[in-house]
Amino acid sequence: MSGSKLQTPIDYLKGVGPNRANLLRSELGIHTYQDLLNLFPNRYIDKTQYYQVSQLQPTSADVQIIGKVTHLKTVGEGRSKRLVATFIDQTGSMELVWFRGLKWIREGLKINVPYVVFGKVQRFGSTYSIAHPDMELLEEHEKSIRVAMQPVYPSTEKLSNKGITNRVMNALMQTLFQEVHKSIEESLSQDILTALKLIPKREAYLNIHFPQKQQKLGLAQFRLKFEELFYIQLQLLVKNKLHKQKIKGYPFENIGDNFTTFYSKHLPFKLTGAQKRVLKEIRNDLGKPAQMNRLLQGDVGSGKTIVALMTMLIALDNGFQACLMAPTEILAIQHFQGISDLCEQLDIKIALLTGSSKTKERRIIHESLEDGSLHILIGTHALLEDKVRFKNLGLAVIDEQHRFGVAQRSKLWHKNELPPHILIMTATPIPRTLAMSVYGDLDVSVIDELPPGRKAIKTVHRFDNNRLKVFGFIRDEIKKGRQIYVVYPLIQESEALDYKDLMDGYESIAREFPMPDYQISIVHGQMKPADKDFEMNRFVNGETQIMVATTVIEVGVNVPNASVMIIESAERFGLSQLHQLRGRVGRGADQSYCILMTGHKLSEDSKTRLQTMTSTNDGFEIAEVDLKLRGPGDLMGTQQSGVLNLKIADIVKDNEIMKIARNYASALLKEDPQLAKPDNLPIRKTYAAVMKFKNIWNYIS
Ligand code: ADP
Ligand code: MG
Repeated sequence: MSGSKLQTPIDYLKGVGPNRANLLRSELGIHTYQDLLNLFPNRYIDKTQYYQVSQLQPTSADVQIIGKVTHLKTVGEGRSKRLVATFIDQTGSMELVWFRGLKWIREGLKINVPYVVFGKVQRFGSTYSIAHPDMELLEEHEKSIRVAMQPVYPSTEKLSNKGITNRVMNALMQTLFQEVHKSIEESLSQDILTALKLIPKREAYLNIHFPQKQQKLGLAQFRLKFEELFYIQLQLLVKNKLHKQKIKGYPFENIGDNFTTFYSKHLPFKLTGAQKRVLKEIRNDLGKPAQMNRLLQGDVGSGKTIVALMTMLIALDNGFQACLMAPTEILAIQHFQGISDLCEQLDIKIALLTGSSKTKERRIIHESLEDGSLHILIGTHALLEDKVRFKNLGLAVIDEQHRFGVAQRSKLWHKNELPPHILIMTATPIPRTLAMSVYGDLDVSVIDELPPGRKAIKTVHRFDNNRLKVFGFIRDEIKKGRQIYVVYPLIQESEALDYKDLMDGYESIAREFPMPDYQISIVHGQMKPADKDFEMNRFVNGETQIMVATTVIEVGVNVPNASVMIIESAERFGLSQLHQLRGRVGRGADQSYCILMTGHKLSEDSKTRLQTMTSTNDGFEIAEVDLKLRGPGDLMGTQQSGVLNLKIADIVKDNEIMKIARNYASALLKEDPQLAKPDNLPIRKTYAAVMKFKNIWNYIS
């Protein structure tokens, strides 16, 4: 959309004074005419229909009914004092209720005169009622002209308290539209409009804000959703292309000794088909003189580490160094140990660098990094310190990327003349469609196959009062030589309380499982790192049978002998977290179990989460449910919330439209990369404007 008129500050609109302007800005982010025009209704109230009392259903939402008030009474005392009207039509009777302004309403209401009432129905016992209905005398109602479908705009409590009601928003929209409708220019090409039978832009805006018919409204919604997603896809595709063209990278043309020796002699198991396929994708990227920027997704336990290692070996074979960065010290240590073991027979040097590395170790690491004698560096955030300088870093592997901010990633990036290739590993399954739209600039590889011989983890939900049975089960498993995790939630705001829960839980477990027969480890956030590691290592080495912990063990920890994961207060965990935790077991050959403990009081969302967990082990399926429950912002973690900031489209529900938009955007760029054809002029103009006002590049990688 162009036209400077649309950039007029909202203060200038008739009916919007300085106070309202401030409110619109602070509450809804509306600064200009265009912003208001792009405030789309959340839903519509169908005012083409009248209901009769006998037609009401417990599920009826907002309804419009014609009838008369026959009787008024005040009931209750104090806070629950309310005015109740008996309202009837030919088919039955119901109630209208007011809690505020009783006196005023009582005086204004006419008895036995036809009204049109409008509002949300609720049912109490066998009686339907509407609280604080909109009321209009039938006579007046018939005189006024009204929109058939009344839009309901997004609002906030503050806005309605300050008198900017939905009615006011509707009025402002009318004023606005009269003033700007001529400035609304077409923003798609005739080709696309024709191919998809889209209605023109101006008509779409008219129908989204002042719909007369359901069918036209549908067309308007489709048109505007398509447009929104189309420009997002266009930006992502352009970015992806620029990326491939402009960011040079070191081509790794050789597959040398390290890789081939490892592959033929030291691989401890046969790679799965998915691992092979992903390695091929990576090798293909690395062979080109462009920087690889690849996201490797694989469910917990799918075997990402070996892929990372083999990718690092390719870097080494081409004379470069590689690094692997993990989000926690424990995980970094595990990677270091695991990879050192795997590479024992190879002639390469690997070091570990974390926050607790000693000064002397550090100095040696710094020196050998700079002279190139150190080949692989594994560690935590410590890798990002200024003193860490590689001689020639060719590949950076980042594990569990959702823990790292964007700034941190690019810091790694700038260690070298040309940027290193980047491989990001994540066990947070991002639904493909979302990955496509949010990480459009990253290439995505997926390991969608677990190593053979894994038994599916059995997951059950138990209520707290069944704890004794659960203890019995633990005892049996320990007798078989297995190890057990017991995890407690830790949520920042209630840290003290959570800590108490953890300690209470620990004590009751210690009573049930006394020393010396049983040994218990405990790990939580208030411990010193050294103590944590000590406890963790006792569990890893099999010296303790039970690990009581907060969610610090969530990421990556690998103890194949642990076969039971008990999650306390499971209703307080998000789905992806539950799935991550569950992934800590099921890593060995034994049957593993996950027990979700909760109280009896559960919200609908909690029930859905528990049901999902007990019915599937598939991370992608879980991610889809999670996405539906929480929305994309949360799924991606706070650092990415608000990505895309969609105004009308819904990334989940409008998935199909997104695919169409992507296909059209991609076809367009193929056909007319410069957007130079006359028919594409509207797209070129809009694209330039979008880039100027809402540059989503900033959000992404
Ligand atoms: P994640 O993808 O969660 O990081 P890991 O790389 O830690 O998973 O692998 C999980 C376990 O599976 C490790 O013990 C690893 O040695 C083993 N593993 C990986 N790939 C295979 C395979 N192809 N066959 C058998 N075991 C494998
Ligand atoms: Mg891992």
